[in-house]
Amino acid sequence: MSFFDRLANGLGTLLGVLVDTTVQVISGIKRGYEAYKRQGGATGADIVDEITRKKDRLRSVNDEIMHLRNQRMSSGSLSDRARKRWEDLRAERDQLLSELNQGKEVRAAEKIFETESVIDKVEIDLETTHVLQYNAFADTLGKQCRVCGRPMKLQWKRDLSVAEPKDFYWGCTGWYVVQGDRRACMHTKKLQRNDYGLMTDTTAPEFSMTAEEFGIILTDKGTEKIIDTRLNDLKSDLNSGHRGVELATCPVHGENMVLRRKQNATGLLDAYFLACPYWQPNNAGCTFIEKLKSGSQLAALLKSETGRGVL
Ligand SMILES: [Zn+2]
Ligand SMILES: [Zn+2]
Repeated sequence: MSFFDRLANGLGTLLGVLVDTTVQVISGIKRGYEAYKRQGGATGADIVDEITRKKDRLRSVNDEIMHLRNQRMSSGSLSDRARKRWEDLRAERDQLLSELNQGKEVRAAEKIFETESVIDKVEIDLETTHVLQYNAFADTLGKQCRVCGRPMKLQWKRDLSVAEPKDFYWGCTGWYVVQGDRRACMHTKKLQRNDYGLMTDTTAPEFSMTAEEFGIILTDKGTEKIIDTRLNDLKSDLNSGHRGVELATCPVHGENMVLRRKQNATGLLDAYFLACPYWQPNNAGCTFIEKLKSGSQLAALLKSETGRGVL
């Protein structure tokens, strides 16, 4: 069951709320959450434990699927028994992904209740596009592709220094699934007017300036250096704990994305990307990566993993 009748993400942001009031929206989520609890749904520390257990199982399932895949690639075929095992594992993975998705919704709702007093409505215009980018980093809950059913992600034309509201669109994550020489789904959808309304915790200092001002700050060499160091430290911390980024997962494998740094990067906004743990260079593994090409994405990542953004 879902208690969001609109889109949300793990940062505790609600998307597509241009016409509603904050009070209406939050009380709607509270009703759904209470009903879920009455039916015995896990919350608080229990749901965190449940998510951890399911993620562990998911990792074993993914590893075994990968193992079978490699076996098939090296020997050209699989025994009937191995093929059957593969099918069972894929069904189990689908089940785990949907249960984990429910878990993400519970956590997102709790995050919204925690920050309720500072949640404000932001209407995206030329000056606030960085708020959209900030939120694009975390998985969107509840946005499915109407063609293939995969989750969709907020995207924008990446080579722009400041994106305008019209440069954003929903892109199907099937785009990252390469089957032979084609992509599994290339469906995109324009943002609807309602998508330009967000409810989010606006206390982050990044939101007190315009998209353009925010962009200018990040061109300062000193600032760039500091952020780069912090990201590198975060990367080492995550690596040494064998952890991925909490709020961003691969839509295919469901596992937390790994923060990586490119060799020979031309600058801060070219240096970092998130990759599926099954990613390998030269398209050898899972192709799901997300480039961190805006200061807002870096800020959101640092804020959610370390408690402090870039300012
Ligand atoms: Zn699709
Ligand atoms: Zn993946």
